[in-house]
Amino acid sequence: MNLQALNLGASGTAARLRFEHIRHGYGGRDVVRDVSLTAFPGRVLCLLGPSGSGKSTLLRIAAGLEVPRGGRLLINDVEVSGPHAFLPPEQRGVGLMFQDFALFPHMTVGANVAFGLTHLSKASRQAAAGEALARVGLAGYEGKYPHMLSGGEQQRVALARAVAPKPSVLLMDEPFSGLDSRLKDQVRADTLSVLRETGATVVIVTHDPEEAMGMADQIALLKDGELVQTGSARDLFLHPGSVFAASFFSEIN
Ligand code: ADP
Ligand code: MG
Repeated sequence: MNLQALNLGASGTAARLRFEHIRHGYGGRDVVRDVSLTAFPGRVLCLLGPSGSGKSTLLRIAAGLEVPRGGRLLINDVEVSGPHAFLPPEQRGVGLMFQDFALFPHMTVGANVAFGLTHLSKASRQAAAGEALARVGLAGYEGKYPHMLSGGEQQRVALARAVAPKPSVLLMDEPFSGLDSRLKDQVRADTLSVLRETGATVVIVTHDPEEAMGMADQIALLKDGELVQTGSARDLFLHPGSVFAASFFSEIN
């Protein structure tokens, strides 16, 4: 299928991602309840909420790893999950980054970063991997193996792998939770500047209000599978719309 024809956004351009009345569950239980939400082009949206609030499920639906029970998901107004369509993950122009980095231990850093670039020739693949590594400050790391790197460096390799295909939407599930707390502030700042440079639309899942405050253009606060409130970090912090929102942000000092 031709992505351009579907208007999913040319590689490297940000797309709009829209959840419309999304509902999903496992077995007899709904864990995402009627969520409608838009991630705007080139902006960072944080899905924030306590453990079990449905954040990862929403991210997996956006990635095409999960088919929602109800509602639909649109990328640039094209239905990619819903009653009329299902577009598989590799055709959505989305990139994914997981909590544990999920690097392939038996593959070099270069091969890890080039992994999603199978549509390119070998030479272009290597060039794109080198470019992505340089972008995260790891130029020349191609020949190393993941076990030779620190946690912070592994995080950067995972980030390079996620941005190398120039996704129009980048989905990140708790991308900093595996890191030492001493490192987190710096890694977050570095990651944010890489994300800004790529220009992709970014969705970050986190349970940490401080992380959301520091990174998000827009926060979507979730509780028990429902969208409680959405707005800028400032909006939510200064004008929490519920006791839940107020208490969630009160931990920040
Ligand atoms: P979060 O990322 O906010 O912690 P999740 O989306 O992972 O929340 O999970 C929401 C709820 O759905 C949780 O109660 C979780 O236990 C349940 N859940 C998640 N994935 C599955 C699954 N594959 N099978 C059954 N239950 C699941
Ligand atoms: Mg989760």
